[in-house]
Amino acid sequence: RNVLHWVRSKDIRQEDNKGLHAASQKAKEGKGSLITMYLWSPNDLVFHGTSPARSDFILDNLRILKSQLEDKNIPLAIVTSEKRGSKTQRVMDFAKEHDISHIYANMEYEIDELRRDISIAKSVQEEKDMAFDVLHDQTVVVPGTLTTRSGGPLKVFTPYQRSWLSETKSEFSLLDSVPPPDGNDTCARKDLAKLFDTQIPNLPETKQFDSEEERARIRKLWPAGNEAGMRRLADFLHNKVADYAAHRSEPAGDPSSRLSAYFSAGIVSVREVLQQTKKANGGKHFDAGDAGIIAWVREIVFREFYRQVTVTTPHTAMNLPQNLKFDNVEWEDDVEGWQKWCEGKTGVPFIDAGMRQINTEAYMHNRLRMNTASYLRANLLIDYRKGERYFAEHLIDWDLSNNTQGWEPSYTVFNPVVQAEKCDKHGDYIRQWVPELRGLKGKEIFAPHDRLSKEEFEKLGYPYPHVNYAETAQRAKQRYKRNLAEA
Ligand code: FAD
Repeated sequence: RNVLHWVRSKDIRQEDNKGLHAASQKAKEGKGSLITMYLWSPNDLVFHGTSPARSDFILDNLRILKSQLEDKNIPLAIVTSEKRGSKTQRVMDFAKEHDISHIYANMEYEIDELRRDISIAKSVQEEKDMAFDVLHDQTVVVPGTLTTRSGGPLKVFTPYQRSWLSETKSEFSLLDSVPPPDGNDTCARKDLAKLFDTQIPNLPETKQFDSEEERARIRKLWPAGNEAGMRRLADFLHNKVADYAAHRSEPAGDPSSRLSAYFSAGIVSVREVLQQTKKANGGKHFDAGDAGIIAWVREIVFREFYRQVTVTTPHTAMNLPQNLKFDNVEWEDDVEGWQKWCEGKTGVPFIDAGMRQINTEAYMHNRLRMNTASYLRANLLIDYRKGERYFAEHLIDWDLSNNTQGWEPSYTVFNPVVQAEKCDKHGDYIRQWVPELRGLKGKEIFAPHDRLSKEEFEKLGYPYPHVNYAETAQRAKQRYKRNLAEA
């Protein structure tokens, strides 16, 4: 009988893929064929607001994976699930139709995805001769497993990081990878041949790019495939990581790896990334050696930590803040402020630069994500979930755990002028994204409305600040305090 690996939108690769490897081993043992499948659910993309850039990235990577697997005579079937609720049925029908004895997949930790898997597990259980195994593949350390002395999950980052470093140091095997299927998992049976013919779908109507040129431009920025991702890593480790500790918050130099799109769709394996990073660190673990590497791995640990948060506070995957008291905040309905924020026309250069970057590159530097999020939820006092959704609709690297944790409301309010002066000292990042301000050379660029004369400012053709920073920061703090006390 045949064995199925079900590819998901977080593991679109053949390299070091735990579920795919387990399925290939099982197929060999039982002398059955290895089949792979992707469940294409256009309504999920609409439900999550997935950006055209990310939707297209998923399809482009599936195209590469399909061709790599087919070279080994392993089909990748694309099965469409028109209704969000029909996934279990579609998977079970497929499994029965193709005489599957065992279904493998890698675990997704969000609540809807877990419920879907439970539903499939129940249906599989009703079949006497079928099994369903879901493996941990997305992280090095399994989410939920790093605990305090009393056994509860670690909920604070610093102790989590300490525990993560110690766990990965003592358990070397956590970084071990598994090989891709080797091509002996042949699918020679004639009745399976038609699976090779299933086509990579087109983008749904609502997820189209404005033009073909737009699609080509985004694809050039984010080339698909594991090879492209690992090349990006090599380039980062060779040229940039040494400066990462000192300069990672300075967006003008593009100091980070830009690997997030590859992590979020599982185009690269975090284990393989860390193996290469360890090599670049002269074989040392991540608590010693190069300061840049230590700082960079800390971010990877944040990614792991946020998956632990998703697992231990599942309501964060259901549109609720981790600190539920923030659900009581009375948000403002500032239609004009919202529009200006989206378009990068708030009149605050650092914020506008960040928003113009996301609108152009389907990506934004982390420092800007922090600042634009703070500006929306505090200075504009707009429901942070609208911003969270906007990010999903525009980022190529959208990831529920990272995005919801990044947007988690708090009392911290960033002053975007002070932030710009610190992180964009010479104004180069602002100049790159806000052409109206390109002619400004000094400190005026950080707050042109306050630092230029009225005539000089008006000549720029740059918007007036939509709100006053100090007043609105104060308003937000008072509002949060009052509403949280009432909660
Ligand atoms: P690098 O600095 O090179 O870091 C390497 C990897 O570590 C990243 O690719 C990412 O996987 C992980 N990482 C880095 N920073 C963080 C972080 N703060 N939290 C968790 N993991 C991190 N990241 C996403 O992948 N998808 C999102 O949808 C997302 N939304 C965000 C929203 C807000 C409001 C904020 C403040 C942050 C968000 N982040 C998100 C986290 C972070 O901004 C991005 O991961 C990072 O900017 C990606 O660039 P990079 O790959 O060059 O990162």
